[in-house]
Amino acid sequence: MALLFLPPPLDAPVSKLKDVGETAEKRLAKLGIKTVRDLLLTLPFGWETYGGPTGIASLTAGVQATVVGRVVKIEAKLTKFKKMRLTEAMIEDGSGERLRVAWFNNRFVVNNLHRDDRVALAGMVKAGYGGVPEMQSPHYERLDGSPDVQPSHVGGLMPKYHLVDGLSSRKMARWIESALPLAGQLEDLLPEEVRQRPKLMDVAEAVRLGHRPETDEDFRQARRRMAFAELFELQAAFAMMRAQIAAEPAIPIPYRQEVIDAFKSGLGFELTRAQKKATWDAFQDMARPMPMNRLLNGDVGSGKTAVAAACVAMAHASGLQAVVMAPTEILARQHLHRFRAYLEDTFPGLTVELLVSSQSAPERRRVRAAAASGHCALVVGTHALIEDNVDFVNLGLAVVDEQHRFGTRQRELLRAKGSGRPHFLAMTATPIPRTLALALYGEMTTSVIDEMPPGRTPVGTEVVAPDDRHRAYDLVRAEVAAGHQAFVICPLIEESEIVVAKSATAEYERLKGDVFPDLRLGLIHGRLKEKDDVMQQFVAGDIQVLVATAVVEVGVDVPNASVMMIEGAERFGLAQLHQFRGRVGRGSAASRCLLLTDDSSESSIRRLGLLTAISDGFRLAREDMNIRGMGELMGPRQHGMSDNAMEALLQPELLSEVRQEAERLIESDPGFERHPLLKASIARRLDLTSIS
Ligand code: ADP
Ligand code: MG
Repeated sequence: MALLFLPPPLDAPVSKLKDVGETAEKRLAKLGIKTVRDLLLTLPFGWETYGGPTGIASLTAGVQATVVGRVVKIEAKLTKFKKMRLTEAMIEDGSGERLRVAWFNNRFVVNNLHRDDRVALAGMVKAGYGGVPEMQSPHYERLDGSPDVQPSHVGGLMPKYHLVDGLSSRKMARWIESALPLAGQLEDLLPEEVRQRPKLMDVAEAVRLGHRPETDEDFRQARRRMAFAELFELQAAFAMMRAQIAAEPAIPIPYRQEVIDAFKSGLGFELTRAQKKATWDAFQDMARPMPMNRLLNGDVGSGKTAVAAACVAMAHASGLQAVVMAPTEILARQHLHRFRAYLEDTFPGLTVELLVSSQSAPERRRVRAAAASGHCALVVGTHALIEDNVDFVNLGLAVVDEQHRFGTRQRELLRAKGSGRPHFLAMTATPIPRTLALALYGEMTTSVIDEMPPGRTPVGTEVVAPDDRHRAYDLVRAEVAAGHQAFVICPLIEESEIVVAKSATAEYERLKGDVFPDLRLGLIHGRLKEKDDVMQQFVAGDIQVLVATAVVEVGVDVPNASVMMIEGAERFGLAQLHQFRGRVGRGSAASRCLLLTDDSSESSIRRLGLLTAISDGFRLAREDMNIRGMGELMGPRQHGMSDNAMEALLQPELLSEVRQEAERLIESDPGFERHPLLKASIARRLDLTSIS
């Protein structure tokens, strides 16, 4: 009986496709592929080139090739070492030449291939012993029917897709094949006029050629087109936001020399050149009658807080209030002290208050009243600032620290705290390359703080193998004996907060019981109620070794801490590790960062090796980007951009082309009213991209 197979619509779940079952659906969902459209739009990231079938006699070791032959022997066994599953086969081609084949840990091959089967193999050729060439774990395809049936799935160009466990590029290729006839229905969100200048193909062609290129150039152009569209969507969204913000009036804060003079003399240190530049950028923005929208992009410890404080002082001199929001209570309290130290003595009347959710209700009420009456000039706090019923009588400046920790809505809520639009300053402690900053935070103008305050000693960083752990413990002990303090960071486990808290607690108990029974240990994790007490005890020196989860990642300042020991270092992104490292080396003592890892793979060691060699966060970010691509830079957090788009950022020209086209389009069609498809997808993307 002939089965009539109706193609599903683009919005149908992938399971509507032939051969995609429930399990596959779940696995695909992990890659963000839910609908047929998603599947089509997911291009391979690369290709293996095997060429057409060649005779075994003409194979060259070290070159990928395709071979067609007959199975003369096949058997499955367990290897002596490690009991790995191994399938060995011997293949003979038409001229009687033989090729030895081995598959490791593949349960299926022995069920699929039998003696006398005709088979096509595609893989890397190795020189085997006895002059018989070998392939290890090649792709294979059983060829039914007549001897002139040619392989259709292996050999030639084979796509490589990003995968999760249980998926293979071959499966992906098969599913995509059944979806490909629908490519013609894909709507193109890039208007014709935008595609013209950069010579971009339309979406249907890009999808077809991206999955089935005939040449490298096809593939390159298809990927370029897809990356362009994605970046365009983001940049168009940013352009729209910029235009909206610029259209709103803000109260100008005129520059006053005497304010900055007083501020500087009260600081107790000289601002660095980079700090001065950033401060000057901000002052110029704030003096305009439209809201400042600026990002301070600087390394950990580069002194962003002082720049923000200078802006607060300037706003205060104009009779305007300021608000500073930080992602954690620890950080908010630290900011409170820091801003007070920078400002309160120098500017009488500039009072700084704290608002966090752990405060008593009467205390919060008092601070809210002070904000609403204009009595206090600066409120520093956490999410409580936006959750609570907080109002400012004349808010002139809103600052967000570690801004990547907040979503659009939270930032918008903060900006809406006054009656008009306040000037806005965002700070990020993940130094990111300029292109990435433009791509991710394109709605803001950036000031880069690429210089550290003088007198810092770089943190000596080393990778420690697990059987060397005792040496790391000895170092911790020695530093504590010398009067210093240490952090021990627990590995990142991607599970619930409860699981994380449990494992940190277990590690704490183990260290306390077996390793450092004579030292004063403390524990801090996200679920702990007394986080601040613990942190205060650590700051006061009552705790010598602080066992922590990633909560200490951001901004905490304890100058006496001199060792940062990180378990399971390979699980963190380089930027995050750099953040941890930034927690030490804040005092005058020489500090160390110890990276413990069980992962002895070359790539992991090389990546961690970068940390040992490089102390400049911007350089580190660039190196990491080159090795692992842009996507990894931001750590496990969802940045909402595809790998393809991230990689495209490695060519800054593309991004500038994208930005130009976006600006052009928005000029001719400000609200994208004539481009409803684009408008809708921009709205979707803004929702999806946590950072915008
Ligand atoms: P960031 O927020 O950029 O990570 P901070 O603002 O917390 O850095 O500054 C880190 C430390 O450096 C603080 O103790 C701060 O007082 C100090 N600091 C900032 N700027 C300077 C400077 N120009 N000279 C000396 N110390 C500075
Ligand atoms: Mg900071």
